[in-house]
Amino acid sequence: METSEQLTRFRDFFESYKDRIHEAVAKGDKSAVFDFKDLLVHDPELADSLLEDPENLLKAAEVSIENLDLPTQFIRVRFNNLPATSILRIRDVRSIHLDRFIVVEGLVRQTSDVRPQVTSAKFECPSCGNNIQIIQIDTQFKEPSRCSCGRRGKFRLLSKDLVDAQRIVVEESPESLEGGEQPKRLAVFLKGDLVEPKMEKRTTPGTKVKITGVLKEVSIPLRTGGQSTRFDLVMESNFIEPIEETFEEINIKKEEEEKILELSKDPRIYQRLISSVAPSIYGHEDIKAALILQLMGGVQKEHTDGTKRRGDMHVLLVGDPGVSKSQLLQFISKIAPKARLVSGKGSSAAGLTATIVKDEFMRGWALEAGAFVLANGGFCILDEMDKINPEDISALHQALEQQIITIAKANVQATLKAKTTLLAAANPKLGRFDPYIPIASQINLPSTLINRFDLIFPMRDIPSREFDDKVASHVLNLQQKPDDIKTEFPPEFLKKYISYARQKIKPALTKEAVEEIKTFYVSLRNLPSIGEQELRPIPISARQLEALVRLAEGSARVRLSKKVTKKDAQMAIETLKRCLMQVGFDPETGQIDIDRISTGITTSQRSKIVKIQALINELTRKIGKRIPIDDLIMEASEQGIEEEQVNEAIEILKRDGTIYQPSSNMIEKI
Ligand code: ADP
Ligand code: MG
Repeated sequence: METSEQLTRFRDFFESYKDRIHEAVAKGDKSAVFDFKDLLVHDPELADSLLEDPENLLKAAEVSIENLDLPTQFIRVRFNNLPATSILRIRDVRSIHLDRFIVVEGLVRQTSDVRPQVTSAKFECPSCGNNIQIIQIDTQFKEPSRCSCGRRGKFRLLSKDLVDAQRIVVEESPESLEGGEQPKRLAVFLKGDLVEPKMEKRTTPGTKVKITGVLKEVSIPLRTGGQSTRFDLVMESNFIEPIEETFEEINIKKEEEEKILELSKDPRIYQRLISSVAPSIYGHEDIKAALILQLMGGVQKEHTDGTKRRGDMHVLLVGDPGVSKSQLLQFISKIAPKARLVSGKGSSAAGLTATIVKDEFMRGWALEAGAFVLANGGFCILDEMDKINPEDISALHQALEQQIITIAKANVQATLKAKTTLLAAANPKLGRFDPYIPIASQINLPSTLINRFDLIFPMRDIPSREFDDKVASHVLNLQQKPDDIKTEFPPEFLKKYISYARQKIKPALTKEAVEEIKTFYVSLRNLPSIGEQELRPIPISARQLEALVRLAEGSARVRLSKKVTKKDAQMAIETLKRCLMQVGFDPETGQIDIDRISTGITTSQRSKIVKIQALINELTRKIGKRIPIDDLIMEASEQGIEEEQVNEAIEILKRDGTIYQPSSNMIEKI
């Protein structure tokens, strides 16, 4: 099609939208968006050539729109709603798509600073005075190679046209991936009014977007300054729009819905769901049961004062090596809707939460979203949590409770949404979990963070003839016959059941359930104080109260019930108790004590520390600043405190900065 024909045909098309275009210009818009389907109806041939040769056709469109007698000179033409055949998965983008009009969808992973970019430059030839215009499309600034008068090089730069530009990186969203695939990325350039402040909000990292654009190649500049034979693919964006992120975009067919509804009435449904979780892993029923409740999730509450209470339940598994933590996480990542599996070790480069990275391309800074942000509305499954970097640890505090991540660094400031459920696994500091040491001092993580988990499960590897026998036959049988896995429901169905429950069911607490939870909470918090000790255990805090509500709501969702019943409340209490018995249980008093989790020091331990501190004070008065540890041990034993406990107290006081140890057998108050 000749250019002149393109112009008249576009002009014809725009005539029918004249009013709308005038309106847009009057509003101050710098672009007008057209539905591709309209063009297809109006002029199928023109629409086809737009798909084939977008660069020239868009230019023609912009020239012909200028001829509409608009008050402003220049207005960009943008298209949305391209046909399904133009929609590509990022992983399928190849060089054959170069210079075509295509559409990709994905999550914004990275956004650079907005910088001016030269789009064209005018040069003057010093020999003949000729003006030469060079369109700048590459990343490298291009000068004319020669003038018509024969001159080569040393041209004078007269002027350049600048446009605001931004580079973003989009990544395939988890729901578009089949289990286990790693998401692929594509760089996209946004220019002109696509990077205006009001647009910028729509492209914050973590947002799901649909981008129409032209695929381009850019050469990768060599360090030597020369040209490489390797090229990168980038998309020159024509239009970008955020896509509404409904929770799970898993479509459930009519007959599947019927099956789900029927199964929900089965009184054994919870048990059946539990036995479908990681059937290749033997045992760990408690954990599997808790994971089902986590997958179902609680209901987010928004209060009229603008505050929110999260519905997401966070679960931490702490355990000995080789107890199948990683295997379990991997399974959950396949059935959890919108899940992202990351390892604490590997995640540090991109960051788990959000980071500011140097942007080589734009020579500035770029904001990059980590897994936790990209899993917004879904699950972040984090293995080896003890190995995440310190910056992520501090950002996670906010993320787990407020469900946002704020970042302010290198003149980038942003608030990213992170309505994400966290399932994490960590290894104990000393390699093995010790039930006699408080959990907070066993994991290389601050107790303030550990505190934000609804449930913490230790997974211990204790030799037991019966259990070992069962695991061995289970594992060996699967080694012999890999397909011989007995499961109630296949993973795909489990995922659908969970998605359905999360999508459709928002259970509400009944009076009976509230009563049950309240009674449990009040009675646990008001246990009689222990013996002659003046300190009372504070067994559970208001955090656990909210956890109980979430667990109970999850339990109602198992049955697809709109009501949280007394039974659900009991199930929640049982689950929390089972977890507290293992991690919050103080073997010295035989009571559950949440301080073991939150501060790492139990009440009975605390009262001993108080006593030992008193002894140290007394000894300082009697014998001076330096106190032999042996003397302290002797005095303590008279009060019924054993040597081991004295040593433990010394360690804690040293960590506090109350005392220090000038030599191996002496301590001194600071
Ligand atoms: P971790 O992450 O806890 O260190 P892994 O998930 O890597 O452990 O598990 C180590 C191996 O032991 C896996 O191949 C797993 O299948 C096997 N294994 C451990 N416990 C069990 C179990 N209870 N049932 C079946 N296999 C198990
Ligand atoms: Mg592991």
